Amino acid sequence: MPAEKAQALVLRTTDWSETSRIATLWTREFGKVRALAKGGRRLKSAFESALDLLTACSIVLLRKSSGGLDLLTEAQVVQRFPRLTSDLPALYAGYYVAELLADWTEDDDPHPTLFEEALTTLSQLGQPGVPTGPRLARFEVVLLRELGYSPTLETCAACAAPVAAGGRFGFSAAAGGVVCAACLPQARDRHVLSPPARQALVQLGQPDEAWRQLSDAAVRAEVRQVLNHYVTYLLGRRPRLLPYLGS
Ligand SMILES: [Zn+2]
Repeated sequence: MPAEKAQALVLRTTDWSETSRIATLWTREFGKVRALAKGGRRLKSAFESALDLLTACSIVLLRKSSGGLDLLTEAQVVQRFPRLTSDLPALYAGYYVAELLADWTEDDDPHPTLFEEALTTLSQLGQPGVPTGPRLARFEVVLLRELGYSPTLETCAACAAPVAAGGRFGFSAAAGGVVCAACLPQARDRHVLSPPARQALVQLGQPDEAWRQLSDAAVRAEVRQVLNHYVTYLLGRRPRLLPYLGS
């Protein structure tokens, strides 16, 4: 088994035996990996507290060639996110980031952009002047894009007609995005989507922190509802943290 170095975010840990833990890690290099940390439950182990939830660490893995678990041989803390522990909405948002990455990404499917976005999200959540709802929504939009589920926002997801900026339209998870007025009656899971909320979803996907401009409470609430609906549809179940998220 070759030893590999990686940058990782701790998404989940489960006790495995009296002395060992299994860690689910989101890594820059390999995507999601599950690794056995022998001695990971002992207070003075080689891992110290690097395996705490939502800790960014530098790791060394012995990779299993097929199936089974990798073996974690080293983990050193690179970054913690202390602001999360003093701000409950930010902490729930952080847990939600971990839940989505743990339950939605595939093993060994790396997305370096999504790794960076996760770390940026966790470091910004809870900071003064950072609105938790839009910051989290930005993460979700990047996640959707990286996993190939970007909602269609500029044209009707059903008939591909351009969607007029001020027109009447809705959102359908099953169709995969915005649905025009003509197609709306046929969309069974249609949701209300106001023109400003559609524009907000477009903005969330833009670079340069355009998410910071989402200040309208009603628009933010609508964006949260649409994302809840879409993520739940795609995952096939409601994420556990969803009821705890604010907008
Ligand atoms: Zn249409």
